[in-house]
Amino acid sequence: MTEPSYLSLHRSGELIKRAEMLNELLYSCNICPKDCNVNRVENNIAACYSGYLPIVSSYCVHHGEEPVLSGCSEEENDHGIGNIFFGNCNLRCVYCQNYEISQNHKSEIKNEVSIERLAEIMLEHQSKNVNAIGLVSPTHFVPQIVSALVIAAENGLRLPLVYNTNSYDSVEVLILLDGIIDIYLPDLKYSDNEYGYKFSKVKDYATHAKNAILEMYRQIGSKLVLENGILQRGLVIRHLILPNDFAGSRETLKFISELDKNISISLMSQFYPVHKALEIELLSRNIREREYEKVFDLMEEFGLENGFMQEFESESYYRPDFNDRTEPFKR
Ligand code: SF4
Repeated sequence: MTEPSYLSLHRSGELIKRAEMLNELLYSCNICPKDCNVNRVENNIAACYSGYLPIVSSYCVHHGEEPVLSGCSEEENDHGIGNIFFGNCNLRCVYCQNYEISQNHKSEIKNEVSIERLAEIMLEHQSKNVNAIGLVSPTHFVPQIVSALVIAAENGLRLPLVYNTNSYDSVEVLILLDGIIDIYLPDLKYSDNEYGYKFSKVKDYATHAKNAILEMYRQIGSKLVLENGILQRGLVIRHLILPNDFAGSRETLKFISELDKNISISLMSQFYPVHKALEIELLSRNIREREYEKVFDLMEEFGLENGFMQEFESESYYRPDFNDRTEPFKR
């Protein structure tokens, strides 16, 4: 089995140094591009409504991610991915499907766990024979995750980490993750800052997300390293098709194709109106089949052949319900 990269950093002592360097950033927090400059070590709270300890809103084995992550029954690697859902978020997407844990700020802060407990959760997942550890919405807790990883690696963790992010990440922080994260799973939500502001409430989403993806690509490239059909190392960019093309699919796919046509894309059709999108007329419907086909045609036009596509009807089976924290995704 391929060894995850962080183990060699752990043996050399570099992993603990990275954890220390990342922790330093929490004293005047610039962990993400919001640059709030609050002291999170003293539990001062700003845009992501998160203090020092990591908020774990849910953790579960998830079988609904891309087949190279979750596995599939035909290939007998259907072990799922051990997802850890971090609570609160540095974005405020009006259509967030995880809004119960990402924007229910005051309530989710009650789900803080110690760094040691986060390490235990990683090891608990490994004991269930999952394919990888999935860090879902990890951006605002990167220092705490790396500190927990030091403990987990010491205690036998040897699964790759999947960094499943909205991509509103700081390049400086991503540089400190080089050699720690083997699988990047970033969203590219909008090609235009205007819609990022309108629907996710940050003024510069497209600018920062593109820079973050350039850094992930610098670290990992476009090659997917698979073992028994399961991803061990690679970059897969997710693009959620939005109604009325608010995601700017043409420009988004053009950007990716100009970077490298071999990059794997996960084209997602699972949008359904939820949360505040229900009150926004132009977002208050599912995507149409024609919208889906148009983006599919764009993939062909830009020569993007690698990746995964959700079926058009997929919205009905990707609906999480975080009222059930132990099994939010029903199979
Ligand atoms: S991680 Fe949170 S506190 Fe830190 S800069 Fe981002 S939004 Fe602000």
